[in-house]
Amino acid sequence: IILFDVHKIRKDFPILSRMVNNKPLIYFDNGATTQKPQQVIDALIKYYTVQNANIHRGVHRMSQDVTDEYENARITVQKHIGAKQEHEIIFTSGTTDSINFIATAFGKKYVNAGDEIVVSEMEHHSNILPWQQLCEEKNAVLKVIPITDSGELCMDEYKKLLSAKTKLIAITHVSNTLGTVNPVKEMIAIAHSKNIPVLVDGAQSIPHIKVDVQDLDADFYCFSGHKVYAPTGVGILYGKEEWLNKLPNYQVGGGTIKTVSFDKSEYAESPLRFEAGTPNIEGGIGLAVALDYINVLGLENIATYEHELLGYATEKLSAIDNLRIIGTAKEKASVISFVVDGIHPLDLGMLLDAQGIAVRTGHHCTQPLMAHYQIPGTVRASFSFYNTKEEIDVFANAIVKSIKRINQK
Ligand code: PMP
Repeated sequence: IILFDVHKIRKDFPILSRMVNNKPLIYFDNGATTQKPQQVIDALIKYYTVQNANIHRGVHRMSQDVTDEYENARITVQKHIGAKQEHEIIFTSGTTDSINFIATAFGKKYVNAGDEIVVSEMEHHSNILPWQQLCEEKNAVLKVIPITDSGELCMDEYKKLLSAKTKLIAITHVSNTLGTVNPVKEMIAIAHSKNIPVLVDGAQSIPHIKVDVQDLDADFYCFSGHKVYAPTGVGILYGKEEWLNKLPNYQVGGGTIKTVSFDKSEYAESPLRFEAGTPNIEGGIGLAVALDYINVLGLENIATYEHELLGYATEKLSAIDNLRIIGTAKEKASVISFVVDGIHPLDLGMLLDAQGIAVRTGHHCTQPLMAHYQIPGTVRASFSFYNTKEEIDVFANAIVKSIKRINQK
């Protein structure tokens, strides 16, 4: 089914028509970062051409205008993820920053010696290290939900891990390496029945799935702009109002206060209390433009089309001798990781690059997951709505050709 005209959509993304190594670019590294539509690029040019001013500070016209636009961007994000209030949306520099924020602020107040934090075996390093560091500082314990070989969480083990000592669960919505979509709504309900809050790493879900934080009942939800067609250096931390009100400060500085004196300073309310210093103003504005862009296409249409690409690629790749797909969960987003027996992923990645195909190779910042499968890494293709079946055909042929070349040596 063609739900939208992919060739027309591709024209919105100027980079997709460039050549790489004298071949038309095939960009299958959307899990690392997505390309930007002209609408987002134009917003950045407009910002620096006629809008640039600092926000929340000036009485002058430009400052007020750009403050309004930045605050409207916050409302766009709020609506996009179904948050109840706009002050539950905090601009950060990305998913990693959002997770470090909670590990620091929540950790400072709520985590003590002997307490436990629960993550899973499929987490990105950005959703492991902040918790590991916190546990080391506080003498707390990091607990890990194991996965099955198909790349799904062991839900029985998850339930067994939760106890009175569990202070927080930090879990990815979609695995960046396997593509697995985790049952976060169910996991949150189980956690809440024991009064445990849950942080969801949404870096890989926001580009592919319609997310409603109230429906999920997530306490914290994090994502990055650059993975959802927006600029780099901007991200979001959603936090439920009741949690944000209880959290201590994270970074402090200009913009976070009501009054400052050397004896005592008074802080502003959320979100300003949590947004120290001049933010990535053009990034926030660009994020709203990117979300508007995907909402015109429709996230359900995007998901349907991307699933078709995933199914097509899975079929094509499965037919290749000695190729093994890593991650065969029932529910997957459009991410496909694989290994070829006897061939290092890096070698394959380099030969694909020579043919103009951009994939990610290596451990994808998920070394514990690689340890589970006892592999050094995978080749990962991650598809966007601007990719096509024709590109997947070229990709599959290029893999076969590359394997032959390596085996000839
Ligand atoms: N979590 C997941 C699941 C990711 O895929 C990524 C990015 N690869 C991150 C966290 C970190 O995102 P960022 O680098 O934008 O902070």
